[in-house]
Amino acid sequence: MKIDTFDTTLRDGTQGEAVSFSVDDKLLIAARLDAFGIDYIEGGWPGSNPKDREFFARARELTLRHAKLTAFGATRLARNRVDQDSSVNALVEAGTPVVAVFGKTWDFHVTRALGIGLDDNLALIKDTVEYLKSHGKEVVYDAEHFFDGYLANPDYAIRTLEAAHAAGADVLCLCDTNGGVQTGRLFEIVSEIRRRFDGVIGIHPHNDSDVAVANALAGVEAGATHVQGCMNGYGERCGNANLASVMANLELKLGHTTVGRDRLAELSSLCGFIADVANLPLRGDQPFVGRSAFAHKGGVHVAAVLKDSATYEHIVPELVGNRQRVLVSDLSGRGNILYKLDQQGLANRLDDDARRGLLDQIKQLEYDGYEFESAEGSFELIVRQALTPDQRFFDVDGYEVTMRSAGAEGPRATASVSLRTPHGPVTVTATGHGPFNALHEGLRQALAPVYPAVGNIRLIDYKVRVLDSYKGTAAKVRVLTEWTDHQRTWTTVGVSDNVIEASWKALIDAVQLELMRQADNAASGVPLQAAPVS
Ligand SMILES: [Zn+2]
Repeated sequence: MKIDTFDTTLRDGTQGEAVSFSVDDKLLIAARLDAFGIDYIEGGWPGSNPKDREFFARARELTLRHAKLTAFGATRLARNRVDQDSSVNALVEAGTPVVAVFGKTWDFHVTRALGIGLDDNLALIKDTVEYLKSHGKEVVYDAEHFFDGYLANPDYAIRTLEAAHAAGADVLCLCDTNGGVQTGRLFEIVSEIRRRFDGVIGIHPHNDSDVAVANALAGVEAGATHVQGCMNGYGERCGNANLASVMANLELKLGHTTVGRDRLAELSSLCGFIADVANLPLRGDQPFVGRSAFAHKGGVHVAAVLKDSATYEHIVPELVGNRQRVLVSDLSGRGNILYKLDQQGLANRLDDDARRGLLDQIKQLEYDGYEFESAEGSFELIVRQALTPDQRFFDVDGYEVTMRSAGAEGPRATASVSLRTPHGPVTVTATGHGPFNALHEGLRQALAPVYPAVGNIRLIDYKVRVLDSYKGTAAKVRVLTEWTDHQRTWTTVGVSDNVIEASWKALIDAVQLELMRQADNAASGVPLQAAPVS
């Protein structure tokens, strides 16, 4: 059955503590959601803030091919006539074909929060829906706190829906606003509402009990055909139902149609895009679309997955635009290493003994605090060194770093780097903003006469993590560095109880890998596949 998708990332999603979109961001996301095939895009609350008003003004320039833009607001204030209620009129003026209007279901909220009589609230609902219908709008009636209200006073909760229904609401959407209702109970209640009302029933769950996706699916199984949620589960407090997961489950598990299988293959890229615009990392363990969603680490799992991926994968990752990943770690068996080598086009170049040696070396390094899952550059370097143990580009004799802070100039660092290169021993002293910058500069200058291409390598990210925090400032640290030569990027890792030494190791790995790749390409004339960026 076709289930209508109602995305409220731009309205409920922005109530999440970490989520903030500019008007331009919202326009970009709306266009992308439309291209993906979402049916309704709730853009904001025009009566509540100038940013949302501006969004709806500028949204007139958007040419949505499929989605219906929706403005959100409340029923009229009790003291206002509906045609004089500025908030309701802002909904009309937003110029959208659809409006979603929420009203009170729970008698406790009516008498305590609004401070009005129960029948007065029914009048607010009726007047507002009728007024919006008289302006030609498709009206989604959001029954706020529906489940809590129903559990407290089912007769009154049903009367609020009847008021909206009789006034012409096109969708009766049942909201679990506080996110506390349990899935079995929700199923029973939606089933009961389905029996009592014709027309479209919607479901709008929040995730405070960590069951919002399950509740959305249970709502559909009980007869709802309209699902509201936010991409990546953004939203106030613990978020809304993650619409991405809801759609994947509806399409792939429950036999319903949302955007269709073809478009579903763009789900991972859509979620990544929205996270990028929100400037938030996409959760690695986010089901279906996270980078770990189909990542295999344990050696037993990997061995089985390499025979048949269905052994440890609930769906084929490509159905949602994701991919299988095999991680290298101290849990690794030979399968992981082989998979990685294969990815890098190196699998056939190591014999069995070399592979075993490599595995032991990686396990020891991981025990020492190295991590190769996110440092595929360092992993590739170890493999290449195992392939060609005699190939050396330079040796490090030592380095020295000093730092000085004097007067208004701020701190400056000086580094001396001593190497042996094919041109003989060399010592270079360089200055930099900080110790790592000075070391990188010293190394670059020392190698430039022999390997000029080293000058193209640039640092683009640097992360440091304490490994044994109980040792305080004497703790061992892991430094992850990401580099680019303007064509590809790669990540290397260094571990030490000295942050400068850990950074230096990661720097040396990055430079050695680049030199080995260049030498290999020059020798074979065949470009090797770059390590996937982590
Ligand atoms: Zn909500």
